[in-house]
Amino acid sequence: MDNNYIDQACKQFRTLLEQQLERSARMDHAAKDFSAQKQVVIGLIDGDGIGPIIMREAKRVLEALLKEEITAGAIVLKPIEGLTIENRLALGQSVPEDVLAAIKTCDVLLKGPTTTPKGGTMESANVTLRRELDLYANVRPVSVPELGIDWIFFRENTEGEYVLGSRGIEVPDTLAMDFKVTTVPGTRRIARTAFEYAKNNGKTKVAIVTKANIMKKTDGLFSALCHEVAAEYPDIQAEDWYIDIMAANLVNPDIRGRFQVFVLPNLYGDIITDEAAQIQGGVGTAGSANTGDRYAMFEAIHGSAPRLIEEGLGDYANPSSIFKATELLLRHIARGAAADKLAKALEICGQTEKKVVVTGDRTVATCAAYGDYVLETLAGL
Ligand code: NAD
Repeated sequence: MDNNYIDQACKQFRTLLEQQLERSARMDHAAKDFSAQKQVVIGLIDGDGIGPIIMREAKRVLEALLKEEITAGAIVLKPIEGLTIENRLALGQSVPEDVLAAIKTCDVLLKGPTTTPKGGTMESANVTLRRELDLYANVRPVSVPELGIDWIFFRENTEGEYVLGSRGIEVPDTLAMDFKVTTVPGTRRIARTAFEYAKNNGKTKVAIVTKANIMKKTDGLFSALCHEVAAEYPDIQAEDWYIDIMAANLVNPDIRGRFQVFVLPNLYGDIITDEAAQIQGGVGTAGSANTGDRYAMFEAIHGSAPRLIEEGLGDYANPSSIFKATELLLRHIARGAAADKLAKALEICGQTEKKVVVTGDRTVATCAAYGDYVLETLAGL
């Protein structure tokens, strides 16, 4: 064995450890109070593939719901150009510098899905944005009232397997190693976000989901810190679960209705929230929030659906997911009444009246026709 590999790997590991210690030391936790802010700037990012198609409908809904505040200047809708796969590839940057600078002038973002090239070295725009804007909480609600399901997932969004995902170590033809990072402040802040949500929304249980029996250091620390935070919330029951059995629990009709709030490390959260969205009817039905203390980004949970575009069916994309994300955004910026109104309209259009049919991953009428239906319903409320 060539000792050079070991020496190089040790050097690389030292650098990674120093950088992670530095990242951990920089973390703080002090959420913004939007209700006290005179003006809120909402950045609108179209994205790729079906992104511009579903975003057009979301923009119409925002303009209708926030009309007076937009006129008064209390809300600004700011289009952010340039986060397209063509521009990113041309510049060789996952998020071009000028785009990032424009994004940082906003308080919150509503974002269409962005394509990540297969292979190569380009990082996903989302991973870059989560890191650059320190969006540490990925929040995904899933609700299926007829099945007794009312879940909300708090996925840690900035560390775990993702923070060093493209910086592993390789000995050619022999082995490859990746790293998983759990920091104390990074875990405390996601745990606190989940327990605060539970307290403020009348929830009585939080499931802490890890694989701490195997990943003893990282997941062991995650679980222990969640319990430490849980001790400050005596009215909320904190339960430990392993990710494998939780994946089974979500499809077990006998017990899934007992779960309310979940808090979990990055990779498990990534996987299990897609499973949960599928139970709700497909990825086209679910929205998600990526929140930090300074910035927040809201989006559909699905990707840019390149196959739908190739088949010429892009105009039939289901905008329900981006509408759900819009509702989450409105709640985040303390526009609860507008969020409730949108939730009501989505319930009428998607569950009770169903005058325009949508399925989990297709609209039977066009995306724009469904947008018209939601707007007409909003106008009648
Ligand atoms: P995808 O979510 O784009 O598509 C999966 C399936 O769901 C496809 O059959 C697609 O047609 C369908 N679908 C998704 N959203 C739909 C909608 N609103 N209406 C109708 N049908 C819908 O997943 P993928 O094909 O694995 O990924 C495509 C690209 O998107 C990749 O480059 C990937 O990296 C990227 N991606 C981006 C994000 C994001 O920006 N948040 C998330 C996931 C994937």
